[in-house]
Amino acid sequence: MSTNKELFDRACQHIPGGVNSPVRAFGSVGGTPRFIARAQGAYVWDAEGKQYIDYVGSWGPAILGHAHPDVVKAVQTAAADGLSFGAPTAGEVELAELICQRLPSIEKVRLVSSGTEATMSAIRLARGYTGRNKIIKFEGCYHGHADSLLVKAGSGLLTFGNPTSAGVPEDFIRHTLVLDYNNIEAVKTAFAEHGSDIACVIVEPVAGNMNLIKPVAGFLETLRELCTEHQSVLIFDEVMTGFRAGPQGVQGLTGIKPDMTTLAKVIGGGMPVGAFGGRADIMDAIAPLGGVYQAGTLSGNPVAVAAGLATLKLLDNEAFYQQLAAQTQKLAQGLEAAAKAEGITFCTDSVGGMLGLYFSETIPTSFAEVSASNTTKFNQFFHAMLDEGVYWAPSAFEASFTSGAHTDEVIQATLDAAAKVFKQIK
Ligand code: PLP
Repeated sequence: MSTNKELFDRACQHIPGGVNSPVRAFGSVGGTPRFIARAQGAYVWDAEGKQYIDYVGSWGPAILGHAHPDVVKAVQTAAADGLSFGAPTAGEVELAELICQRLPSIEKVRLVSSGTEATMSAIRLARGYTGRNKIIKFEGCYHGHADSLLVKAGSGLLTFGNPTSAGVPEDFIRHTLVLDYNNIEAVKTAFAEHGSDIACVIVEPVAGNMNLIKPVAGFLETLRELCTEHQSVLIFDEVMTGFRAGPQGVQGLTGIKPDMTTLAKVIGGGMPVGAFGGRADIMDAIAPLGGVYQAGTLSGNPVAVAAGLATLKLLDNEAFYQQLAAQTQKLAQGLEAAAKAEGITFCTDSVGGMLGLYFSETIPTSFAEVSASNTTKFNQFFHAMLDEGVYWAPSAFEASFTSGAHTDEVIQATLDAAAKVFKQIK
């Protein structure tokens, strides 16, 4: 049996940084990443056989818990019939119908293989449909790694961003306007100055990529009003929140209807599926009907679609979401109480099956506020919890995820571990 360290050393020889996606590398918390050998329900086991309660959930997809038997069976059955055809299948029609039924803002949808493809294609489509170039995004929102979205905000109220990633030419992002999340005045100013040039606004309607940050009252409403007024496309990036924040994502919780929505994670049930969809008049601007090009060899892959369908069928259930939200709240409140008992500055927030943990006095509402939280304390918490057998996301700037498998027993075991850990790190 190889240890995590041996595997990581081997991985670093042939995979840059030893990982196939950067945050897995424990870069901000330090230490050796755990190599996961298997997962079941609320638990993962590493290469050394150590069991952890898992709050990463594959970064969102595992809403039913890992390896749900119905989903595994659907994948096995589909795989036995062939892995990929590059031709239409009945399964993808069913998944598209199901997505359109569940999310009324989506009249037509196209399936892709990742969240990045979904957001990248949605933006191209918004630009093609409106004939405009500029897009608005918000600091701290992650929409995948397409060039025009890898932009950090400048310090000013209205800043055309600089690339966050090397390899992204200035020219590629000069049309990307980056604003502060939850800053309603900044959005109004941007539209007043550039409204007729703005193709779209893309937003995580609850942000989950700068820890968990909810929209303040009026923020999403203002985006909706201004996009309607200026005929810009409002894109809700619900890659993370879709079928997780609630049965209809954040759009269901808030009643605000975007023109387009991007999805991934839960809709693939752990397999590579993404989707972008929305108003039929916009979606019909895409090839083969319209002039905006988008395609994919493995788009709508039959095995991945089978996993997504099996997952969404099990989620057609209000009671599931009520229970998920209640369990997440129970965990959040229990963690707060445990920290308070030790005098540790700590607070939490949650929505549906998403949880925010903040080593700060108050719940942050922006990237600047979340950046000011105590990351040293988070790192201590992370490692001590890992030792106790609880696996949180290895960064203070990520949301955590619960699932239908996070039962009372699992939550209590987490809280028992946290009580020990808060005492240790105070
Ligand atoms: N959009 C959001 C809100 C995300 O959280 C992510 C990934 O975490 C993406 C897009 C990109 O998705 P993927 O990693 O599947 O490309």
